[in-house]
Amino acid sequence: MTERVVIVGASVGGVRTAAQLRAAGFAGEMVLVGPEAADPYDRPPLSKQVLRGSWTPERASLGDPAHQWGAKVHTASAVGLDPARRKVELDSGETLGYDRLVIATGAAARQLPGPPLAGVHVLRTMRDCLALRADLARGGPLVVIGGGFVGAEVASTARALGLRVTIVEGLPTPMARVLGEETGRMLTLLHTAHGVTVRCGVAVEGLGGTSRVEDVVLSDGRRLPADVVAVGIGVTPNTSWLDGSGLEIRDGVMVDQFLAANEDRSVYAVGDVARWYDARLRRHVRVEHWTNATEQARTVADNILRPEEPIAHTALPYFWSDQHGAKIQLVGHVDPALATTVIEGDPARGRRAVIYHADGAVHAGLTLNWPRALGAVRRSLDNGAEVGGVLADLDALTGR
Ligand SMILES: Cc1cc2nc3c(=O)[nH]c(=O)nc-3n(C[C@H](O)[C@H](O)[C@H](O)COP(=O)(O)OP(=O)(O)OC[C@H]3O[C@@H](n4cnc5c(N)ncnc54)[C@H](O)[C@@H]3O)c2cc1C
Repeated sequence: MTERVVIVGASVGGVRTAAQLRAAGFAGEMVLVGPEAADPYDRPPLSKQVLRGSWTPERASLGDPAHQWGAKVHTASAVGLDPARRKVELDSGETLGYDRLVIATGAAARQLPGPPLAGVHVLRTMRDCLALRADLARGGPLVVIGGGFVGAEVASTARALGLRVTIVEGLPTPMARVLGEETGRMLTLLHTAHGVTVRCGVAVEGLGGTSRVEDVVLSDGRRLPADVVAVGIGVTPNTSWLDGSGLEIRDGVMVDQFLAANEDRSVYAVGDVARWYDARLRRHVRVEHWTNATEQARTVADNILRPEEPIAHTALPYFWSDQHGAKIQLVGHVDPALATTVIEGDPARGRRAVIYHADGAVHAGLTLNWPRALGAVRRSLDNGAEVGGVLADLDALTGR
């Protein structure tokens, strides 16, 4: 009988787990732990509406966990775990016992090496967002290091604010390692059409400036003038507090198909921190997308409440990104080694789809301004349809 659930990490994964537990009828005690637990917020608006200034920070709120879901809130960080004794240690000195523990500690933005310089930002927290926003108000120029989704969205928002923006990416195209070069070229065109300079295939050697950044030094010897630098070079899962716990950590908390981290299923993990065994793929994966965190929260809540009939987590990853007014959506497990077929939708509306496939089977699809095409790809992934069928569906959508 589960009487007390402790959730460590109070962002979308942790808060949604609390909400799902209550929605599914859990009447026991729920404790939410995290530095942001009293006032949790959503991250996607941090590179979009809040950064631009069209939303107040309050609009990104995920709710009031104490009031809405009756959670006890500890504004603290977990610093240790003893799964055998079922105890979590907090930096406040307190120790919390639990029947079930949910690890939802997410990930932290990677920093550039070297001493801190004013004007240089990462973007993960609301504090990061407001500091970057204040610096963008100085007028730029902005250099974005790393062409991933967060960096690309910062570039888009800064352009909308009127700044001169350059993206520097070491790979041949932005997102080449994740989405392949074809899609990377498509995203590059989107940026350049909106006035962003995209410098690919060149590394960053360092930053110039004494107390404030003045320029970005590239491996080809050039220096890009910069008043603000946004660093988007990926994230590291927040697992250091689990050192010595005995849980298996491999770039994330290793969990089984039910999202459980240990044999007796007293510890679960969700969201960016969880590397779970996807029974559909027959391997472990870790996904850094908002929808994944919310869907895993539902799976874990169900598995805590009905341990005799655990549900395997097999949801397909889904991601969206808003850049320069375009809606980018991705569904499925993408791999740059897969073959791609590009379908031109309505060019006037900027509609396009990239289908990732191998041996006739569809693995993923990315769409630009074309939600109906994404729906068709999703249906084909659910039904295990052949690539020919999806391409025919998309052709039908274009009226060809
Ligand atoms: C700027 C930005 C824009 C994004 N835009 C999109 C988008 O458009 N679409 C999309 O699909 N995804 C987007 N994402 C990704 C999405 O926000 C993440 O996948 C999601 O936030 C993951 O949620 P999480 O709860 O697993 O982890 P996180 O959001 O990382 O939250 C983890 C929480 O745990 C806390 N914590 C860490 N260590 C401890 C500890 N030791 N003890 C207690 N608490 C701890 C942290 O303070 C934090 O509150 C974006 C992310 C960022 C940063």
